Order: sequence, then structure tokens, then C-alpha cells
Amino acid sequence: MKRAGCASVATLPAKRPTGHWSQGLLQSMSDPSMIVMSDDRMVMIRDKYPKARHHYLVLPHTDISSLKALSVSHLPLLKHMLQVATDFVTELAVHKLAVRYGLHAQPSMARLHMHVVSQDFDSGCLKHKKHWNSFTTEFFIDAQSIISSLEEKGSVEVFDKATCDSLLKMPLRCHVCGEEQSNFPKLKAHTKQHNTK
Ligand code: AMP
Ligand code: ZN
Repeated sequence: MKRAGCASVATLPAKRPTGHWSQGLLQSMSDPSMIVMSDDRMVMIRDKYPKARHHYLVLPHTDISSLKALSVSHLPLLKHMLQVATDFVTELAVHKLAVRYGLHAQPSMARLHMHVVSQDFDSGCLKHKKHWNSFTTEFFIDAQSIISSLEEKGSVEVFDKATCDSLLKMPLRCHVCGEEQSNFPKLKAHTKQHNTK
């Protein structure tokens, strides 16, 4: 296991990243300043635009394109990615840190990636409804439920575009108490109260 500050990554990404923005994670996977840790199967990087106080992304070296491409053969890798992430969060030893580990139903960036995101959502990068709903509705799929689905059914249910769009347009709701908020500034102010408790 290599830690942040390592000069090199164990394995380079299978595909050479292009300059397109959607390939940005592949570039960050090879950027020592972005890498938190790596091993022969995965790399954990910082999210460049963190949506919470703690926000990381875990990517496999293997070029898995998306949820759709997942099969039972990926179970050991997915379990490893989740285990490394939970161990890392445990080591952070931040008192009562609530964290979720999961994937977006319809990601914007290339290569399958698991978000590791603390539930304070205390970040200036979290700017609008789409961001909020992508982390607090069913658009955010827990890694454990993906693993369970592969174990039980052999596949992962993939939402169609219309379902994803409607999830991202859902009313703004506090993820802690469920209270609906009429606009984004009110939601931000409301969730701040939970963070001080
Ligand atoms: P998704 O919607 O699941 O594809 O999320 C992509 C995540 O990647 C977002 O949380 C972005 O803030 C983050 N991101 C975008 N570009 C980069 C980059 N070059 N390096 C690291 N993280 C990035
Ligand atoms: Zn609330």
C-alpha cells in the first residue's frame, strides 16, 4: 500500500487520458499531489472539487467504464475498494464522522469511481440542487448495495436517463431530518445547524 506523497503509482491507468474534462480523474490518478493512497488494484485520490470536508474518490486500475460493465467477477475488487476506503476513514479518527461510500447512478467522469464523502456537506463547491440531489437521493448508490446486488442477482440495476434526471430534480430535502427547504441557501443554512450538533 502506498500513501500520499509517494513519488509513483504502482500501475498506470490502462487507457492514456486525453485532454477532455471527462478524463480528469485518469489524470489525477497519475498525479502524486492528488493521490491519497494506492496499491496494485486501486488508487484513492482527493476529489478536486470536494462537496464536503472529507471527499475522496476510489478508482480501479482496471478500466471499468461504468456500473453497467460490472459483473460478478468484479466482486473481489469492489470489496477491496470499499475495505480500503473504510480503513482509511477509520484511520482519520475524526470523532463521530459520518461517511457514505457510493457511486453516482449517472456519473459525469470517465472510469468507474466510488465516492467517499463525509455527510457534513460543508463545502463551497457544493453549489446547486443537482449537486445536492446527486449525493442525497437514490442517485447515490451505496457501494455495499452494489456488492449485495452482484452477489444476489449477478448484476446491478442501472437507472435510465429519465429516472436519473427526475432524481436530480427532486425537491431539496435535508439528508439528516428530511425537512424540505424552499431554496439552496436555506438548505445550506439548515444543514449547518446539524453540523454544530
Ligand atoms: P461523478 O459525477 O460521479 O462523475 O463525480 C465526479 C467527481 O470528480 C466530482 O465529485 C468532481 O468534483 C470530481 N472531479 C472532477 N474533476 C476532477 C479531477 N480532475 N480530479 C479529481 N476529481 C475531480
Ligand atoms: Zn435537517
